[in-house]
Amino acid sequence: MRMLDLIIKKRNKKLLSAEEFNFIAQAAAKGSVPDYQLSAFLMACFLNPLTDKETALLTKAMAQSGARLEFKNIKLPKVDKHSTGGVGDGLSLALAPLVACAGVAVPMMSGRGLGHTGGTLDKLEAMKGFKIRIPTASIYSQMKKLGVCMFGQTQDLAPADRKLYSLRDASGSVESRPLIVASILSKKYAEGVDSLLMDVKYGSGAFMQKLADSQKLAKALVATAKLLGLNCRALITYMDQPLGRAIGNTNEIYQTIEILKGKKHLAPDFYELLIEEGAHMLVISGKEKNLEKARALLEGYIEDGSALEKFRQMVKLQGGNPDVADHPEKHLKNAKLKLEFKADKKGYIGFIDAKTAGVAGVLLGAGRNTMEDKIDYGAGIWLTKKAGEAVKKGEVIAVLYASDEKRLADGAELFAQAVKITANKPKPYKLVHSIIK
Ligand code: URA
Repeated sequence: MRMLDLIIKKRNKKLLSAEEFNFIAQAAAKGSVPDYQLSAFLMACFLNPLTDKETALLTKAMAQSGARLEFKNIKLPKVDKHSTGGVGDGLSLALAPLVACAGVAVPMMSGRGLGHTGGTLDKLEAMKGFKIRIPTASIYSQMKKLGVCMFGQTQDLAPADRKLYSLRDASGSVESRPLIVASILSKKYAEGVDSLLMDVKYGSGAFMQKLADSQKLAKALVATAKLLGLNCRALITYMDQPLGRAIGNTNEIYQTIEILKGKKHLAPDFYELLIEEGAHMLVISGKEKNLEKARALLEGYIEDGSALEKFRQMVKLQGGNPDVADHPEKHLKNAKLKLEFKADKKGYIGFIDAKTAGVAGVLLGAGRNTMEDKIDYGAGIWLTKKAGEAVKKGEVIAVLYASDEKRLADGAELFAQAVKITANKPKPYKLVHSIIK
């Protein structure tokens, strides 16, 4: 097989076979084809989109370009969720241990943050000692023991995606829906799960800003996942405003722990989406038939302390100090400088723009602009007020944290543009717009 022939075939809108996609994925993983040919192929796919069947074939080929986790000695249903990312979307941190309490196995492979969206791995590393790069044998033993493990993509999981993603980034072919689907699902397929919940966000802070685009992406993800034999559904969720009260790594871990302790009033939107996503995970995994029952079960695991205990055990097994679950304030330190952002008039918080608040978080030091940037775990924003809450003039709306004066000033200047105070109480928004099955 010659790469040139495959490029020409796709350029001429012909369908490719499983063998041909395998050749390409193997070549990407092994480096046996030059980058310029892989880039040309990606551009041909961008201009002549792959069909659903081709997308599934490419996904499988990319997943099989490396190892696939196999939990042969775990009889429980294996389920994960993937979010397309947002601002304050630290849901996975609470979701994985919570759902594992119900007797499903959750091997959750996550990524790092880039730009205004945070990454689960960075958040986990805000806990001193917590290891996200762990050998496959340790993933297996932790899964057997605890039923949950949160880890980063190892070198041998879906290596073709690493190569193809970086070439898409450099060649202007990132925004191809089939290529996005194959990229996301190849990593999830390699995880060895049988069910997958997709949280596809829409709104200013999301990967897809327009609702219609996020719906198209969700449909493609669900269709492809099903062709791969995964039980999958997608929730289309709101990301015009940040989720919860925490933006930034230390803040988001703190919020997770408080929510798992049962303080649901601290961040009601975060809690609601947590229970909703968890319930869908239990239903698609086959563990529960009924969403209502699944919700009640999960609420029970928070109330009786099981979810916090699962989190505590996970932290312990992955090298962190389990006492963080009991005394987060002792172990999680915010950056040393703080600024209280105050209301300049009385009214209601009408709107807090997710993208602007997320970029303000990056300016404060909580995120990175390039993969090489260093993260300041203690930097970020705590939203004392959220949309719909009343404020008096001079009342604190948010507390901003940074490690130097310039970052603090830059972050505050931008954050000011994210917040709108209105005379009237804004209409509440729905967190889950729709479900794609
Ligand atoms: N996330 C991924 O993992 N891949 C993409 O292509 C886009 C988002």
